[in-house]
Formats: sequence, C-alpha cells, structure tokens
Amino acid sequence: MKIGIIGLGLIGGSLALEWRSQGHQVLGVSRSDITCQKAIERGIVDDASVRLTLLAAADIVFICTPMAAIAATVKQLIPHLKPETIITDVGSVKTPIVEACSQLWPNFLGGHPMAGTQYQGIDAVEKGLFEGRPYVLTPTETTSPAVTKQTEALVRSLNPQVYICRPETHDQAVAWISHLPVMVSAGLIEACLQEKNPDVLKLAKALASSGFRDTSRVGGGNPELGTMMAQYNRNQLLKTLSQYRQTLDQLIEVIQQEDWQKLQQHLEQTHNARKDFM
Ligand code: NAP
Repeated sequence: MKIGIIGLGLIGGSLALEWRSQGHQVLGVSRSDITCQKAIERGIVDDASVRLTLLAAADIVFICTPMAAIAATVKQLIPHLKPETIITDVGSVKTPIVEACSQLWPNFLGGHPMAGTQYQGIDAVEKGLFEGRPYVLTPTETTSPAVTKQTEALVRSLNPQVYICRPETHDQAVAWISHLPVMVSAGLIEACLQEKNPDVLKLAKALASSGFRDTSRVGGGNPELGTMMAQYNRNQLLKTLSQYRQTLDQLIEVIQQEDWQKLQQHLEQTHNARKDFM
C-alpha cells in the first residue's frame, strides 16, 4: 500500500516507521526540510518532501500535524489526490475536525491513536508506540463502510486496541480521562505554588515524591497540546470540570464536617472504581 503521512513528528513519524518496516511504501510530507532529510536518513520513510505533490499516488493519507493545521492541510492536499484516496487524521479531538474535513473530502475518516510520550518532533519517533494502546476510529453516517474497513485493517497492523465510535462520544470520553486530568493536574501544581511561606514551599518541593510525580505528570506536559485540547473540546471539558468542582465541594464539606466515615466511604468507592479505568 502507498501510505502518505503529513507531519513527521512523534505520531506521524512513529506511524511511518511502523508501516515502512512492514513493507509498505511510505511517503512523508513535513513543514521543514531538515525533518524531511532526517526522516529519509533514518529510514522512517521511503521519500519525504515539503511539497504535497509527493502524495499524488497515495492510497491513504494520515494527517499528523498539530490540530490547528489539520483542516487547512486537507484543503491544500485535495487538488493533488486520486478521488479514491482515503484521508484520515490523528488529532486528539474529533468532532470539529470530522465536521470540517468530511465536508472537504468524502473519503475522510477521523482517527485518534491514543499513544504518546512527553517528547515531540522527529527525534521523538518511537518503534512500537501504538502496540496495545487504544486507536479510535470515528465514522459518521456519511462515511463509506469501505473506507472504515480499509483504514481499520491498516491500523490493526499496529496491534492496537481498536475502538469505533461517533466523534462526539470520543470527545466526551476523552474529556473525562485525558483532558480533565490535564487541567486537574495543572491546577494541582498551580495551587501548590500559591503557598505563601517560602520555607514551606521550598520544603514541599524537596519532599515531593512518587505521589506528586504521578498526579502532576500530565499537568507538567506539553502546554500547546493542553491548550489545543481545551480549545477544540471546550464544551465537553467544561462539563467535566464543573462536575469535578462539585465533587471537590462535596469532599471539602465532608472534611469540614469531620465526617470521617463518609470520607472513607468516598475513598472506598474510588478505590474500587479505579481498576475499571485501567
Ligand atoms: P509533534 O511531535 O509536534 O509533530 C507534529 C509535526 O508536524 C511537527 O514535527 C512538524 O514538523 C509538523 N508540522 C507542523 N505543522 C505542519 C504543517 N502545516 N504541515 C506539515 N507538517 C507540519 O506533534 P505530535 O505529538 O506528533 O502530534 C501530532 C498530532 O497528533 C496532533 O494533532 C495531536 O493532537 C495528535 N496526537 C498527539 C498525541 C501525543 O501524545 N503527542 C497523542 C495522540 C494524538 P516539522 O519538524 O517539519 O516542523
């Protein structure tokens, strides 16, 4: 299969590397010449260019740019493609992207490989990144079943856990388990920084260990990606944040009332429920 990848960063480069090693012909397009050169030298792609014309013969194209550039990239790409070419993307939010891109190209299917590291760009490319991780595909009533079938078959070769759902359902679910945690974790770091006593703050920083490392990790991640999540999934994120605020208020009340039995009930419930998310 001739596979086109636009945006040779962590996700795009890792997809390219995987499929090239399986024997597919992989053509990459990225913004910078240096990235394209590195992608060729490291065997990540068969050929790479800053020009979209390279993808004229592609059977399927994965748009792996930052979310803000996805729809504009589809628009620029269309004049260069065969009518049967499938376009899919890897953006972390689906509804606005699927709405915009399906109108531009009938063979568009939204996708989201839920794998990542804290690193970015071509130097972050990792073999086996998608193995065992979720890969969500989001067809709508206008998506041709053949497009979903072909894309799913290719995606399955990465050995991920494939999930198929509507774009809105994806966005609601990721608001809970991905976007809300980023804001909660960022809020945690910010709240700690409000400590007025410099000696206490200094000691807290020195004592911070595995608990703080686990709970602050996503809040200390890529600021651009966090902002994009909020911008593109604003309504769903606001719903989850306001539920979180209510839950925090309930916990505050229980502690203010020194109702330790009730607090233990809350913590027993979360202790039991956590495994269902893992
Ligand atoms: P990344 O490592 O920063 O890679 C994106 C690459 O796209 C950049 O390296 C840049 O390459 C290239 N690029 C930027 N604008 C472009 C344009 N207009 N045309 C062509 N290439 C362009 O980012 P990423 O983490 O791979 O994220 C890419 C997409 O995957 C995003 O939409 C994100 O929502 C999604 N995603 C990310 C994660 C994650 O955890 N990181 C997980 C799942 C999905 P140059 O070097 O050429 O400038």
